Amino acid sequence: MAPVHTYIITMEKIDIKNLSLKELGRELRELGMPAYNARQIFEWLYKKHATDFEQMTNISKQFRTVLAERFSIPVLTMHKKQAGRDRTEKYQFMLGDGATIESVLIPMGKWYTLCVSTQVGCALGCTFCLTGIKGFKRNLTVSEITGQLAAVQAENPGVPVSHIVFMGMGEPFANEDATLGAIEILTSEEGYHYSNHRVTVSTAGLVPQIRRFIAESKANLAVSLNALYDDTRTALMPINATYPLGELMAALKDYHSHRRGRITFEYVMIKGVNDGIAHAIQLAKMLKHFPFKVNLIPFNEHRGTDYERPDEEDVRAFQTYLQNHTIACMVRTTHGEEIEAACGQLGGMTIAKEDVQ
Ligand code: SAH
Ligand code: SF4
Repeated sequence: MAPVHTYIITMEKIDIKNLSLKELGRELRELGMPAYNARQIFEWLYKKHATDFEQMTNISKQFRTVLAERFSIPVLTMHKKQAGRDRTEKYQFMLGDGATIESVLIPMGKWYTLCVSTQVGCALGCTFCLTGIKGFKRNLTVSEITGQLAAVQAENPGVPVSHIVFMGMGEPFANEDATLGAIEILTSEEGYHYSNHRVTVSTAGLVPQIRRFIAESKANLAVSLNALYDDTRTALMPINATYPLGELMAALKDYHSHRRGRITFEYVMIKGVNDGIAHAIQLAKMLKHFPFKVNLIPFNEHRGTDYERPDEEDVRAFQTYLQNHTIACMVRTTHGEEIEAACGQLGGMTIAKEDVQ
């Protein structure tokens, strides 16, 4: 008689936090579970912060066992936490494969804004940005993006995180599926239920993805403009060679014909590069046809570049010019600069000095 071989097939468990409500419903049907369990599970995951299927007591014991065999509920491991003088906190998380990402919790009066990462590093290579200089490792999953909120809330129970901004490490639209998936979990009634106007995605200007975002999401859009002429912008942000200013502005006009919200333009001011009054005049001209606001971000110096922070009076003069021309314009105060948690400084905890010299 021929020998009988036993093959053990081990299936890798699915990270349940990567699934939308619809996808989870489909998975449950395949497992012979009622589709309404999907809503209950979402509630356990995103409202009651369950980390184990055994906690889901309104699901039968038998199905809880089935769920635990098929799915995992990973949580991000906090590797390091640093607090700045202004109560800004930078969190470094270690992912399953050993990669690290950073999130920043920023106090805003009695509320907090959480700045989340969407990639490990960034491939767009903006010459003023530490994350860009560090290079790209990989995209984050939906679970790793929303997991930053879960982990920060677990660390600070009761702290009201009222706004989420996709302005940490990475270019959200270079990881568009996971970014849109995470926004869905953040804003859906069954998920974290944030209102769309409390969630903002910041992009370096990936035009096809901006168009997809217009069609599929109602969250806010911020665009890192940073320069007003194609040659300067391409020198600062190489992606401008692929999507030059004319194409970017055309897509943003479409954004406005589809909805009401104002676009935020981020403008990193760099000494001697884009910080003169002539630039303020050009910026006012260029944005004439939009309802928008401008966030001026004085360049945060870091070890990776020779660019310099602008003089304070130049920042003030730039802002005053815009305000005198009825343009809503804020100077983004630097949060957590001393812990390298400010814009463009993320990645600093893991970067070796010799990597950037
Ligand atoms: N990739 C997206 C979101 C992450 S960067 C984007 O580029 O929009 C978030 C913001 O930090 C961007 O507006 C970027 O222009 C800004 N930034 C990057 N490096 C900076 C630095 N060194 N100083 C000040 N702002 C910086
Ligand atoms: Fe990437 Fe944004 Fe940094 Fe540019 S500014 S390298 S797009 S993270």
